[in-house]
Amino acid sequence: MRKRRVIVLGITGSIGESAMQVAREFPDRMEIVGMSAFRNVEKLTQAIREFRPKAVCVGDISAAEILDADDLKIFCGEEGLTRLVTETAADMVLIAIVGTAGLRPALAAIEAGCDLALASKEILVMAGETVTRSAQKKGVQLLPVDSEHNAIFQCLEGRRIEDVRRLILTCSGGPFRSIPAEKLVEVTPEMALRHPTWNMGRKITIDSATLFNKGLELIEAHWLFETPIHRIDVTIHPQSIIHSLVEFVDGSILAQMNASDMRFPIQYAVTWPDRVSSSRPSLDLETLSRLEFFAPRWEDFPALHLARRAGESGGTLPAILNAANEVAVEAFLTKRIPFPRIWEVVADVMDQIETLPNPDLGQILEADAEARRLATIQCGTEEVSMQIC
Ligand code: NDP
Repeated sequence: MRKRRVIVLGITGSIGESAMQVAREFPDRMEIVGMSAFRNVEKLTQAIREFRPKAVCVGDISAAEILDADDLKIFCGEEGLTRLVTETAADMVLIAIVGTAGLRPALAAIEAGCDLALASKEILVMAGETVTRSAQKKGVQLLPVDSEHNAIFQCLEGRRIEDVRRLILTCSGGPFRSIPAEKLVEVTPEMALRHPTWNMGRKITIDSATLFNKGLELIEAHWLFETPIHRIDVTIHPQSIIHSLVEFVDGSILAQMNASDMRFPIQYAVTWPDRVSSSRPSLDLETLSRLEFFAPRWEDFPALHLARRAGESGGTLPAILNAANEVAVEAFLTKRIPFPRIWEVVADVMDQIETLPNPDLGQILEADAEARRLATIQCGTEEVSMQIC
């Protein structure tokens, strides 16, 4: 039995909360030795009192000044995240920061020889090749926490990737799965933030409504499982009970199931390769009324097309897609652009920036910055004509 010393980046978020629950349930398997928050100092303070980490990182100096500093190293800002992971003795870093701020600390954690538990899909979307190559070179594990990838990881254990015909990512379809295409313009942030099956942070909830979440996951799966994009399919499964499936060359399909609860994949990433008995109730198969599967509405939700294009092109295009999407989601949440404009902004920005093949980290970050700049212009100058109540 092995106890892992874990640094949780993004302890104040939805994944961070589930990670704390796992640490509470399995204190002999998971010790939180470091943690980060961005703005929510109150929740961070509670977490510090409960878990007594050795070091923390906050968004800025004003937040740092509020913290009680007894026996606690306090870092600030982006550079502080990197120092937190390199200057704290740990076995694993759970990256649960929304957006791209987790990329540099993820690379620093790999350099420091820590395994990565990856919730933040943006990291592999932006810099999949850099991250996976560095991990291979250092011999550290990349353990997927995203429920779909964790499911595929479980289905693939003990199998050869050459025996796989295709990976099938399941997708709840989000709150607008059945809404007529012409009604999408009336979607408000309040409507989009009501996810039917998962309770998550704001950005991923909007991504689930546009299907950019699934698009980002396509690219994430491509890097994690060394599978070409054209062999990764998406199926709409509204019940979110099957988290993904793997079809093998002989036609057999393995699926992984559990209740919609992020503690399952977090626990498995932390205790891997062990299975540890949990107090969560068994899935009651007889009360599941049905498990349904539908084809995605590719034309009405163009995020999947855009992500396939970015994943197949590679180079800097996935980073461009990701950055433009982040800006557009924020603009939608602040009611500056209507819902369908998110797809248009991303498509326009992808068309405007030249894609560089085999980029290094500097080129990826430049593409990210340029995509943000162009997307901001597009969102800022938008005439808002949406019918928001
Ligand atoms: P939340 O919005 O709930 O939490 C985000 C966390 O990131 C908070 O701790 C926040 O700090 C911190 N943060 C935000 N901006 C920054 C920044 N610029 N620098 C440093 N820290 C920052 O997000 P989720 O927990 O839902 O998601 C986190 C990641 O996990 C995302 O990439 C998401 O796609 C992925 N994921 C989430 C799932 C879920 O069920 N929630 C499922 C699968 C993947 P603070 O609150 O203190 O401001």
